[in-house]
Amino acid sequence: MTGATGQDGSYLVERLLAEGVVVHGTVRPGDEVPVGVGWTPHAVDLADRDGLRALVLRLAPDEVYNLGGISSVARSWAEPEATAELSGLAPLALLDAALAVQDASGRAVRVVQASSAEIFGHPDRVPQDESTPVAPRNPYGAAKAFAHHLAAVYRERGLHVASCVLFNHESPRRPETFVTRKITRGAARIARGLDDRLVLGNLAARRDWGWAPDYVDAMVRAARHDGAGDWVVATGRAHAVEDFVRAAFARAGIDDWERYVHVDTGLLRPGDAPELVGDPGRAERELGWTRTHDFEALVGAMVDHDLAVAGGAA
Ligand code: GDP
Repeated sequence: MTGATGQDGSYLVERLLAEGVVVHGTVRPGDEVPVGVGWTPHAVDLADRDGLRALVLRLAPDEVYNLGGISSVARSWAEPEATAELSGLAPLALLDAALAVQDASGRAVRVVQASSAEIFGHPDRVPQDESTPVAPRNPYGAAKAFAHHLAAVYRERGLHVASCVLFNHESPRRPETFVTRKITRGAARIARGLDDRLVLGNLAARRDWGWAPDYVDAMVRAARHDGAGDWVVATGRAHAVEDFVRAAFARAGIDDWERYVHVDTGLLRPGDAPELVGDPGRAERELGWTRTHDFEALVGAMVDHDLAVAGGAA
């Protein structure tokens, strides 16, 4: 697993360890290496494709989950080449190494690529599904699109590759670089009197936000499914950033959120998709995938966590 210490990686590690799976994960060199966690960390940079390849060849895994890379659209504009390297070329190295292991061992290797709704750019159809044209509008989406196409290329070569087109998926483990966590932490701190304002960018953007552990479950189902393919993983419901703000503040006990929320035009992004919403029908029908959290439950879980972190009166 790459990205084992990220949001999705941490949930996936827990899930696989509970199943008794032996887990190896990459950790960025220089980052703190987790110890005594039940899985084996390997300090390999995703930009070190020779190192990545050697690791896969040595471990000869049954399943490869590629969750690593630059996960933020905003950061991909600041570091477009690093984005291409970590989210485009690293997946290629993994696919190629997985095929080499499969060819050498005669044993099937299954690969899951964590793809993204950003591969669709500004889609002209709502909701998006597996047949929506891939037409990214930012470096992050372009790197993910490259990896998504390669997943199909290696599938054609006989490798079981699932490309899971994940729409936004959130949890209390999200860092504040994502708008959901920024909002829930901000609302909780304002409710507790620790802050008096929250500065955001585009409040009109509409996104399809789901519960991260559900998306990890979809990736495991995709890995274990008989057929390999593309899977849109989404809730099918879009909400505006402003809807998320209203729901989060209400959960924290604040009805007049407008008093606290300010818009900084410097936080607006070039090429920000107005609306991304996915149709999870195929994953539901073929993978038997269901969601445990709707929008209200997601907002509730994140705000309650941040209220507990902020402390003070319940
Ligand atoms: P992304 O879709 O993976 O980039 O997830 P984000 O949570 O970073 O962004 C989701 C949407 O929220 C995008 O349309 C952003 O433009 C919008 N947004 C509005 N204000 C903010 C903000 O302050 N921070 C972030 N990260 N996004 C914001």
